[in-house]
Amino acid sequence: MAQDTSGRLADRVCVITGAASGIGRATAERFLREGARVVAADVDGDRLATLKGVIPVVGDVSVEQDARRMIDTAVERFGWLDVLVANAGVIPLLSVTEAEAADFDQVMAVDGRGMFLTCKYAIEAMLVSGGGAIVCTSSISGLAGQARQAVYGPAKFVATGLTKHLAVEWAEHGIRVNAVAPGTIETERVAAARVEPGGPEYLTEIVRAHPMGRFGAPEEVASAILFLASDEASFITGAILPVDGGYLAR
Ligand code: NAD
Repeated sequence: MAQDTSGRLADRVCVITGAASGIGRATAERFLREGARVVAADVDGDRLATLKGVIPVVGDVSVEQDARRMIDTAVERFGWLDVLVANAGVIPLLSVTEAEAADFDQVMAVDGRGMFLTCKYAIEAMLVSGGGAIVCTSSISGLAGQARQAVYGPAKFVATGLTKHLAVEWAEHGIRVNAVAPGTIETERVAAARVEPGGPEYLTEIVRAHPMGRFGAPEEVASAILFLASDEASFITGAILPVDGGYLAR
């Protein structure tokens, strides 16, 4: 896919969580091509080590000290923070009858509490440096109902809600907060779902629900994240941008 690389994030200091794979990795690689200085955070240290050109931080976003360290690393290394991409997440496909309370707690811890914590420390840093941009990775599951999303879907509604509430509260301080709502994206999670019980049938049904008739690529989400993180979105805050091949337009 042809991509313009015009230095839209030249010298911007950016923290990306969940950067070792999938959407986060594609975003880190795109941000680097746009001139950003990237702090890449992930719980999977081995995988993160294969991502070149970034400052790696191995940690768990749901652990407060780790979330804080992700932001502090950027400030200590570069002096300030311009952008947070709050993207780390786990994606279990479970019905309410299949899920245990522990599944709910785990997803809420990573996708909910982790997003809250990284946003909290990012905003504290951005207040010192005079503003910034946050892009949260929500989902079509954070805006609409789907089958087998009894634990994941509610966590993505947290992302959508956090985005709107933080956007309103911090706009006057020069901090923009937006989210992308990807449809189904071709990542390893989707590949894994193909071999889970009921997975192929579920994915066939889901692809039909995307009017473009295909799943998205991580790079297509990275492009939307780049737009929201850049000055080209300077009057946009509190927006949830679908990147979903028309899924939510139905
Ligand atoms: P992925 O599994 O490829 O990437 C997620 C990354 O997050 C992994 O590198 C993983 O190690 C990391 N991670 C998991 N738990 C973590 C933790 N506690 N602390 C730090 N890092 C952690 O999946 P992906 O599809 O790229 O997902 C990225 C985001 O996109 C998630 O928030 C997901 O909910 C969202 N999303 C994905 C899809 C999709 O179809 N793949 C659709 C909509 C939204």
